[in-house]
Amino acid sequence: ALTAGIVGLPNVGKSTLFNAITNAQVEAANYPFATIDPNVGVVEVPDHRLDDLAKLFNPKKTIYTTFEFTDIAGLVKGASRGEGLGNKFLANIRETNAIVEVVRCFRDKDITHVDGSVDPVRDVETINLELIFADLETVEKRIGKIEKKAQSGDKEAKEELDVLKRIKDVLEDNKPVRSLDFSKEEMVWVRQYNFLTAKPIIYVANMGEEDIEDPTTNPFYNQLVEYTKKEGADVVPICAQIEEELAALDDEDKQVFMDDLGIKESGLDKLIKETYALLNLKTFFTVGPDECRAWTFTDGMTAPEMAGIIHTDFQRGFIRAETYSYDDLMKYGSETALKEAGKIRQEGKTYKGVDGDVMFFKFNV
Ligand code: GDP
Repeated sequence: ALTAGIVGLPNVGKSTLFNAITNAQVEAANYPFATIDPNVGVVEVPDHRLDDLAKLFNPKKTIYTTFEFTDIAGLVKGASRGEGLGNKFLANIRETNAIVEVVRCFRDKDITHVDGSVDPVRDVETINLELIFADLETVEKRIGKIEKKAQSGDKEAKEELDVLKRIKDVLEDNKPVRSLDFSKEEMVWVRQYNFLTAKPIIYVANMGEEDIEDPTTNPFYNQLVEYTKKEGADVVPICAQIEEELAALDDEDKQVFMDDLGIKESGLDKLIKETYALLNLKTFFTVGPDECRAWTFTDGMTAPEMAGIIHTDFQRGFIRAETYSYDDLMKYGSETALKEAGKIRQEGKTYKGVDGDVMFFKFNV
């Protein structure tokens, strides 16, 4: 499963956010394969389209698609040199698909900041520098390995060396690998190295309850937004303490609490959605009287591959997928009306899925 790793300096609110995630965690009954690793929290991806489908089909069960967050403890200054839990931290982060970086934007004199003051830009630079150092080490090791081969005229080694040198330049400039553009061929190399700073990143500005209705009243949040704009990254404003409380409530109480706070959507829901989008994940639906369900697929997947997400047998025996779009269904109001309008398509093996597809797979057993 795809997972986003939660990182940040000590005392910025990572555990509080992770508690919110585990409070909101899915019920194991619906997700028998959900992981039980204590560092992993599995959450439902909120999707109003699935709610709409459920209203229409009135199924016995409505099942949201899920997403994982991994709590990655122990980043301190010097991690790339093995300080604190440094090496373990870097190995854990390498296994994730995206990085969620929690940044302290709340003032509280009772909670010490490791560097003595609240300064989100300095904190982001501290963390990102550790990740850059780790990637530099990867690059230098690899250059050492292939340099001779490249100089002796090996074409492939020469190509790789060129890519590595470009990456090294960027890293030495204190910039992440993701700030570079790569050709398709280069991407093959880049993927293999699994650079930490090539992973997509999103920032969480953890702020006090008093700021959450209008985050722009918090100057630290504004500094962070200004700073991360340069790299095109998003900042999700959250009050981790509130999220921890919200996630423990049932839907009704949650709504009352959110109305009190003056917010329309919980910060955690927003974070889940934004992280999902950051990873370029798409959703298709299956519907019926028993179950309406959302499934995650990745861009470019074909209909048989999508069938395979549900069950390998569906992929192996794939014949075709009856497909229509959620938007069309909302426009026409029912499957019968869709059929009359010719809006239900019969898609074959080469069909590439589109976000919002509703699919019914025909297969041989
Ligand atoms: P971690 O070390 O990054 O995991 O940080 P924790 O989640 O353990 O939080 C450190 C301390 O900050 C705890 O005492 C939290 O209760 C507190 N804290 C977390 N978020 C907030 C916040 O939004 N406002 C305030 N005032 N305190 C917070």
